[in-house]
Amino acid sequence: MAENHFDLMVIGTGPAGLTAAIYARRMGLEVAVFGDTPGGNLVKIELVANYPGFMGGISGAQLGTMMYAQAQSEGAFIPLARLDKLKYEENEFLGITEAGEQYRAPAAIVASGVVPNRVDVPNADKEGIYYCSLCDGPLFRNKNATLAVLGGGNMAVHEALSLANFGKRVLIIHRGERLRAEAALRKAIEETSNIEVILNAKLLSFCAGEKIECVTVALPGQGNVDIPVDGVFVAIGWGADLGVIQLPVKTSAEGFLKTDDKLMTSIPGLFAAGDVRDTDLRQIVTACADGARAATYAHDFLREHVKKRRSS
Ligand SMILES: Cc1cc2nc3c(=O)[nH]c(=O)nc-3n(C[C@H](O)[C@H](O)[C@H](O)COP(=O)(O)OP(=O)(O)OC[C@H]3O[C@@H](n4cnc5c(N)ncnc54)[C@H](O)[C@@H]3O)c2cc1C
Repeated sequence: MAENHFDLMVIGTGPAGLTAAIYARRMGLEVAVFGDTPGGNLVKIELVANYPGFMGGISGAQLGTMMYAQAQSEGAFIPLARLDKLKYEENEFLGITEAGEQYRAPAAIVASGVVPNRVDVPNADKEGIYYCSLCDGPLFRNKNATLAVLGGGNMAVHEALSLANFGKRVLIIHRGERLRAEAALRKAIEETSNIEVILNAKLLSFCAGEKIECVTVALPGQGNVDIPVDGVFVAIGWGADLGVIQLPVKTSAEGFLKTDDKLMTSIPGLFAAGDVRDTDLRQIVTACADGARAATYAHDFLREHVKKRRSS
């Protein structure tokens, strides 16, 4: 194998990418995995309570580190670098890191996950708007802070539960009539005394000086209301992280990678796994399953197509 030349490149060091690496290595493939965060989005999860095998839960960071160590111990090459570009040249994928290093492989798996959707209202660029409670929640420890979480799904409830450890008061502000989060999470909210839920609230803007000072919402029967806050955590969904792909690949209307039943994208030899894929459940267990399947189908692809190409 030439230097920087692999059988398979994997983009993403989250559960999908690391599982793909473990499976691919055990099938005998030379694998390079790109990403800057061992465990991907797992580092943002305080407690993972629904991943089988860990009764009572496990911290996301710990689970991510374990997956990363396992992929390394199987012999995957993980330079802890992000890919800047993924192209296709001379029957191979060409990956170029942010430092300009080049890697080649005849097959690749995109497991680059998702990035949070941004809010687009006046003052959304001011200091005090955050997208990760585990990263920025500790800024508010012992500050008697009132914190708002925007959103109403699992993500928003996870964020609120995490922030309840730091803020005096946590407000979940949701535009819908009820929270969309799963029942166990809704129950956890009810049992946490410093979390309140404000429903049917349409976000209009933030008021701010140097920093965010309030959230302005339209409430039924009350008109526009300013809710004073010290910080806002946005949890209104996610979009696929596809900035790296410089190829004409098919996506869903929402921008997620379309795949066939073997997880191959519209580009032969390019597979997708995990949250980045057009799928109906974005969880750790499904990301791992995708990673295992994508690696298996990439292995089949390499055997069927690439060997044939080399022998002709
Ligand atoms: C706050 C929170 C709580 C959650 N709670 C749970 C839970 O309790 N249970 C559960 O099952 N799921 C939970 N999830 C969802 C779970 O984290 C995801 O479904 C899972 O991490 C998806 O794995 P993935 O490998 O597809 O993507 P990710 O974990 O997002 O990993 C993708 C990685 O690829 C990297 N990447 C992107 N572009 C590039 C590039 N160009 N080059 C290299 N690397 C790149 C990203 O930076 C990221 O590190 C939660 C998510 C969050 C944010």
